[in-house]
Amino acid sequence: MFVSQEPVVDLKKASIPLIESWKDEFREIRQDFHRNPEIGLDTPRTSGKIAGFLRSYGVDEVHENIGGCGVVGVVYGSSKEGPSLGVRADIDALPMKEMSDHDHVSCLGNRMHGCGHDGHGTTLLAVAKYFAQTRNFAGKAVLIFQPGEEGWSGAKVMMDDGLFERFPVQEIYAYHTASALRPGELALNYGAMQAAADAFTLTITGKGGHGSRPENCNDPIVAAAYIITALQTLVSRNVSPLDSAVVSCGSIHSGDPLAQSVIPNSCQIVGTTRTFKPETRDLIEKRLKEVAESTAAAFGCTAVLDYDRKYPPLINSEEQAKPIADVGAELVGEENVKRNYPRATGGEDFAFMAGAVPGAYIRVGQGGAPAHNGYFDFNDEIIPLAASLLVKTLEKRFKDLAG
Ligand SMILES: [Zn+2]
Ligand SMILES: [Zn+2]
Repeated sequence: MFVSQEPVVDLKKASIPLIESWKDEFREIRQDFHRNPEIGLDTPRTSGKIAGFLRSYGVDEVHENIGGCGVVGVVYGSSKEGPSLGVRADIDALPMKEMSDHDHVSCLGNRMHGCGHDGHGTTLLAVAKYFAQTRNFAGKAVLIFQPGEEGWSGAKVMMDDGLFERFPVQEIYAYHTASALRPGELALNYGAMQAAADAFTLTITGKGGHGSRPENCNDPIVAAAYIITALQTLVSRNVSPLDSAVVSCGSIHSGDPLAQSVIPNSCQIVGTTRTFKPETRDLIEKRLKEVAESTAAAFGCTAVLDYDRKYPPLINSEEQAKPIADVGAELVGEENVKRNYPRATGGEDFAFMAGAVPGAYIRVGQGGAPAHNGYFDFNDEIIPLAASLLVKTLEKRFKDLAG
């Protein structure tokens, strides 16, 4: 069964009262986003709504169309002089079918907010509204609404369009809702949070012919079978047992199901790799190529590797991770902050931002169905807590950095 949605603390008491008083307003916004999911980098409705809300809150600068549908809101503190600190929320949905029957289900059959990014964007709107009303800091809060997290490298797309040149920030923060934790629980670590997620395609070419006369052929299917088996040794024999990595083949294709007596000319294997260290990532790519090429050669075939480095590993910096954990402990109690939370083999494109600017990424518990499951729904109850966590962390850092 799913993790309980019963909070471990009184969420109302744990949150900033002003933000808590906006709970219904932000629930409505979140559920509107949920009903109207948009995929990938193409999020015009969501982005337009976000820009409109930011203007209505009195956010000082609202910039649209950064890397396509990206939006940036800048709130000035009581004084503009001071550091600039960033918070990023992803806003895109997934190409999947919603299974629930609550009153805010997706209005599109094959798209849904199955990862909670509807809630992340809404939380950052609450942060914007609070900062615009209170301005209890010196400096600038840079609030980044980013499409295309689910495989489109949206963070990189915004950065390639000059995000940090136009809006330089000293530090950057983000959160992700977590179904594995109960509402009121927070989790992070001071190092690798998420893996590098890469994709590979191996094209094995042999010599096709009649299935009854294999001696005249170089069978790419047999070569592919040995390659897939040999790839299992990358993690078991090449990566240190004290490190970790994943190599998974997700697709193999060759020949035609109707052609039982045809040895095909080629075979394609598609897969993913996950690593946490740059040197392990290099090792896996190198060994994948060597093992595939030399195994193919043993069968008179060739293998060509196309290795696509998608998302780098997401590494928290202790200098930012510790303060957000400390603020979290003030809100929900030290016993509900997991500071040594295990890293996950999923990818996350906030890694591009946290690779360019020191930052921290934290998980905020919500319970319920896991992300990317058809029954998943962002838990609106955690919006005030998540927004309070981000607000208080930035307010603290504005002070810390001012010396
Ligand atoms: Zn996701
Ligand atoms: Zn997500």
